[in-house]
Amino acid sequence: MDFKEYQKNTKKTAIYPNNMEGGFYYPALGLAGEVGELLNKIKKIARDKKTPDLEDIKGEIGDVLWYLSQLSNEFGIDLEQVATENIKKLESRQKRGVLSGNGDNR
Ligand SMILES: [Mg+2]
Repeated sequence: MDFKEYQKNTKKTAIYPNNMEGGFYYPALGLAGEVGELLNKIKKIARDKKTPDLEDIKGEIGDVLWYLSQLSNEFGIDLEQVATENIKKLESRQKRGVLSGNGDNR
């Protein structure tokens, strides 16, 4: 499945409450929540010095991806294009030797 297909599928499974103005608030808040869940699991790996449960981590990454996809849908942004442009940006920085620098516009 590519990002275009994935993005269509997240739209099919998106059910939001209708008491918030702007369709992007719900997925934005959901994204923050799921990132928190992922980081909490990573925190517990460090705290308990245990072997990561990769299925658990994969599940949380999937939840993060779902909300990212839906946030993109709400803004009318093509996730496939985001992924492509992001890699191009990073490759360009790498070629120019500024991958590890600071600032958004390098
Ligand atoms: Mg989750």
